Amino acid sequence: MAIASDQATSSICSHCDRAIPSSNIDLHYAHCSRNLEQCKVCGDMVARKYAEEHFLSTHAPVSCSLCSETMEREILPVHKGIGKVSEFQELKQGRMSVAEYEAKFAELAQCSTYGGYRA
Ligand SMILES: [Zn+2]
Ligand SMILES: [Zn+2]
Ligand SMILES: [Zn+2]
Repeated sequence: MAIASDQATSSICSHCDRAIPSSNIDLHYAHCSRNLEQCKVCGDMVARKYAEEHFLSTHAPVSCSLCSETMEREILPVHKGIGKVSEFQELKQGRMSVAEYEAKFAELAQCSTYGGYRA
């Protein structure tokens, strides 16, 4: 019934590395080790049944919506040109003509971002 023992002390769960109240550690560990696993990519604890979903939605390569090329998630913004904002600003400061600017834009963006950009 009254399991209100020492809530103050906590133990580190060896599975998820979090501090858990000692009174709960056994229960927590049983649950934790059965249901959670550590993502090998980002180190986050994810529910076992969602591990694949986590991987697919967080780490799996994505395909560019513009040219359907598959690439690492990290480089997609750069590929699409979004990651090049600072370069665009440098270009602007260099006072290029619009035509030059457009040419440079296309070159940097690799794929035709510009076509769908006019919405
Ligand atoms: Zn745990
Ligand atoms: Zn992850
Ligand atoms: Zn593309």
